[in-house]
Amino acid sequence: DSVGYAVVGLGDYALNQMMPRFSRSERSHIAALVSGNPEKLRRVGDAYGVPADARYSYEHYERIAADTRIDAVYIVLPSGLHAEYAVRAFAAGKHVLCEKPMALNSADCERMIAAGERANRRLMIAYRVHFEPHNMEAMALMRRQAAGNIRFVRTEQLSRTDPKSRPAENWRIDRALAGGGPLEDFGIYGLQAALYLTGEMPEAITATTFQPRNDPRFAQVFASVASQLRFPSGAIAQLMTSYDSDGSNIAHVRGDTGALIMDPATGYEGHKMRLEGRESRDFSLGDPTVQFARQLDNFSDAVRDNATIRTPGAMGLRDVRLIEAIYAAAGTGSVVRLSPDGRMRR
Ligand code: NAD
Repeated sequence: DSVGYAVVGLGDYALNQMMPRFSRSERSHIAALVSGNPEKLRRVGDAYGVPADARYSYEHYERIAADTRIDAVYIVLPSGLHAEYAVRAFAAGKHVLCEKPMALNSADCERMIAAGERANRRLMIAYRVHFEPHNMEAMALMRRQAAGNIRFVRTEQLSRTDPKSRPAENWRIDRALAGGGPLEDFGIYGLQAALYLTGEMPEAITATTFQPRNDPRFAQVFASVASQLRFPSGAIAQLMTSYDSDGSNIAHVRGDTGALIMDPATGYEGHKMRLEGRESRDFSLGDPTVQFARQLDNFSDAVRDNATIRTPGAMGLRDVRLIEAIYAAAGTGSVVRLSPDGRMRR
């Protein structure tokens, strides 16, 4: 009763991370491919044993409706295309596993959730970190207050975009496909970490963005976004993300009796995690790359057995609302106050 997935978009992440991991999932297999490049469809289809009549172009995407080999689509397209391809998949009667960020605005997220409910199909956002052993242990440690009461969370999701990049050549710096840029793409991991480490939703946000003039990489997107979130407990999170910095991927919690240091925190592999304070130890929790297959397992269990989805559409919507609040705070230079579901208070 393995679930058949149509992989939609054969880019770097699909080809080099997710597709090779399907074989490690217990009840998931690649049943079909959707791509705009016939040569790639042939090459990748042959490599994964996908029949020639299960290789679709974007023009013929609707034809997946009649293909009973396909239970679900896995959307790995540029982020600005997620909503459209998810809504069309639901209309075709398929379940949807969608890459992060769910979409570029909360209205699109709400449209995706409504389409899934109308079609009576499941929707999951591919937040793989929720299935990664170090991050799962970090959530458990913070729940039992292993660093005491959390006072600060500091996250850095930083990278440097090729200095020669232009929006026409790189969707990640094209506003229509990437929104504001680094926050939606990479900073979303730090935002997520601040929420799952504190176990809270922020009640107030302030933020600053930087978009240099005369740099073709940042004609449309921000170079850097820094934000500060205050939680009801009094914990404060500082989130930093950039496309124009030396690289790092850190989540650091400081409580009143100890600290948790995750560096690197949310990558594909190579995680390091250390607890300091009353209990001090380094964690070695096995192979982080199980996260890819376990994420697929969760969605396949949801499709087949109605299992609870750990990272549902509601979580994707919540995060996109917070991203909107961060940009609103930066745009106005004033504090944005939030209700518990992440909506901005008027
Ligand atoms: P990519 O550029 O390598 O791949 C995108 C694919 O979409 C390409 O094959 C491209 O040809 C295709 N495409 C279709 N229509 C397009 C259009 N109109 N413009 C540009 N490309 C178009 O990008 P990627 O790194 O594979 O990212 C794809 C998605 O996966 C994004 O949503 C990204 O946020 C997400 N992602 C998630 C993770 C993760 O760890 N969960 C990691 C990387 C990327």
